[in-house]
Amino acid sequence: MKRSFSLLLTLLLLISVSVFSAQPTLAASNRPGDIDNDGYVTVADARICLRFCVSLCDLDANDQYAADIDNDGFVSTGEAREILRFAVGLTSEYIKQHPADIKPQTPTKPSDLPEDAKILYMTFDDGPSKYTDDILDILDQYGAKATFFVMYQPDYSHMYKEIVDRGHAIALHTYSHDYASIYSSDSAYFRDLQKISDYVYNQTGVRTNLIRFPGGGSNTISRSYNYGIMSRLTREVENRGYVYFDWNASNEDANGRAMSWQQIRDAAIGYRQQEIVMLMHDTNAKYTTVQALPSIIEHYQARGYHCLALTEDSETAHHGVNN
Ligand SMILES: [Zn+2]
Repeated sequence: MKRSFSLLLTLLLLISVSVFSAQPTLAASNRPGDIDNDGYVTVADARICLRFCVSLCDLDANDQYAADIDNDGFVSTGEAREILRFAVGLTSEYIKQHPADIKPQTPTKPSDLPEDAKILYMTFDDGPSKYTDDILDILDQYGAKATFFVMYQPDYSHMYKEIVDRGHAIALHTYSHDYASIYSSDSAYFRDLQKISDYVYNQTGVRTNLIRFPGGGSNTISRSYNYGIMSRLTREVENRGYVYFDWNASNEDANGRAMSWQQIRDAAIGYRQQEIVMLMHDTNAKYTTVQALPSIIEHYQARGYHCLALTEDSETAHHGVNN
């Protein structure tokens, strides 16, 4: 027993040192342990981790049972999970306190969707707001999922987790939404991004890599603060493991003048792409966006569209970069 315990410790050390830092194939995932990068740390992933580490250690057949924590002759899925959690630094106590940590990072695309399925990705920027609750209720009513590119809105701090708990994707927009400071330098941009990432993580336990630039990748406003910054940032965010999304459709709720809900609906229902990434907003000033939502969803569902949350494999709808 003592021997197998010390072997287990060796194993764990090797997992954390060798597998998660030195082995790019296992460390490539944005979520430690998520080998196939599907957004979940599954039992299968845990098993692969274990097998990988067992073969790395070059143990003989008996020693493989070092992972058999309760010594019943099997490495069960429970043990595999426990070891994997330990390996990524999650203690049982921590998991109890932060249950969201063992939830999926982002919803995944249903695997039974055909290749040519039509998908509407509704995306809400700048929230949460006093209307987020209403938006979530409408989405539930239609069995629709969406993506929220959030910013720092401390008055609605309870809504971040609500978004996640109700099965939508939470994604990063910006902490301050202050163009002048965000786009003053590359490092200023990443400081702002890290701040909203940490805030979302603290609220939800989710560390997402889905982002949207303030103003989108094609914004020209950044030019007045830092020439060429978007050309650099659009490359650098990808180097750092983020996936950034623009849009190929819009409900026009941010076009500067107050829009009636009918105008918003009419702007939103004119698209026919197989994968629609629609820009919308979730702010206290945009009640008509909420009013228009049911008829927009009904329109697309009647035409066979699935309303899904973005994942890192979704259509990114990138714009041309103009700065
Ligand atoms: Zn915005």
